[in-house]
Amino acid sequence: PQVARLIAAGEVVSRPLDVVRELLENALDAGASRIEVEVEGGGLDGIRVRDNGGGIAADSVALAAVRHATSKLELEVASVEHVTTLGFRGEALWAAAQAGELHLITRPAAQVGACVVQAHGEDVQVSRTSAPAGTTVTVRHLFARLPARLRTQAPATTEVREITALFGRYVLHHPGLHWRLTVDGEPRLTHAPADHRGAVASVYGPLSANRVLRVEAQGNVTVRGVVSRPELTRARRDRMHFSVNGRPILAPPELERAVIEGYAELLPGGSAPLCVLDLSVPPGDHNPNVHPAKSVVALADLAGVAARVREAVAAALAQHPL
Ligand code: ADP
Ligand code: MG
Repeated sequence: PQVARLIAAGEVVSRPLDVVRELLENALDAGASRIEVEVEGGGLDGIRVRDNGGGIAADSVALAAVRHATSKLELEVASVEHVTTLGFRGEALWAAAQAGELHLITRPAAQVGACVVQAHGEDVQVSRTSAPAGTTVTVRHLFARLPARLRTQAPATTEVREITALFGRYVLHHPGLHWRLTVDGEPRLTHAPADHRGAVASVYGPLSANRVLRVEAQGNVTVRGVVSRPELTRARRDRMHFSVNGRPILAPPELERAVIEGYAELLPGGSAPLCVLDLSVPPGDHNPNVHPAKSVVALADLAGVAARVREAVAAALAQHPL
């Protein structure tokens, strides 16, 4: 059972990047307006995510690190299609406690004292302390008990690069929050509340921010964000960012094509625009459970969403003639 647990946990958390993503989603689910991430040793030594969100009430805190104890699926409907929060499996904290050592401090604003959960394997201990409102989760010594998993990890520099890129995507898609990423004690990326253009400035620099135009389209599917001005668009492939209902996704090629088509003949051949587009679709229209990393979503009406994206981009460009 011990081995089976570790294998199951390794499927939820296979690398430090997975822990960072899960903890970020929990912080967003908690309604935080300030989220800080610290990474040590490529994340294998330590990952800490601090938020000022709603916290976990004392009477349910011990359950937070128990598998499926918190599954929102059971609480709501027996279908992932209607889950509107980012987390829904009740597995991430549990998996982090199996794969490493979990330390969690949490206090809802209305509660006087904070709770501490220390979990390592099946050993879960709860105690009391005082702390600011919100939640701080620390995961240390990831995969120390899983040598095979440890051996297949990418070098720390690679993992840090991907964690930074992931963090940047969350900043781009949630520009209204305070964000801070610290790597081995050095600030790596900080952002104060702003619009999408401000987030582009934080992530890519002020020159990139000056290249973008605002996109805003209401409807059954809403499209919000920024795209680069056609005359300033460069030949790059790695700067198209999409989120669906608050979650950054690996964009299906149909969506990337829709953006490019929105430029019609304005775009020089071979160039790919910079874009950050937040899509909202009715909850029943997408299934976030397609991929365990949850970076891929299935859109029930991908062609329809792509058409909305194309129109929204075209309308934004039409409002800003060259
Ligand atoms: P899931 O997010 O799928 O429910 P997790 O294992 O990620 O599962 O988290 C378990 C539960 O612990 C969450 O459902 C939530 O109630 C609580 N929780 C975790 N992280 C936070 C946080 N940062 N702030 C408030 N509550 C949290
Ligand atoms: Mg979660």
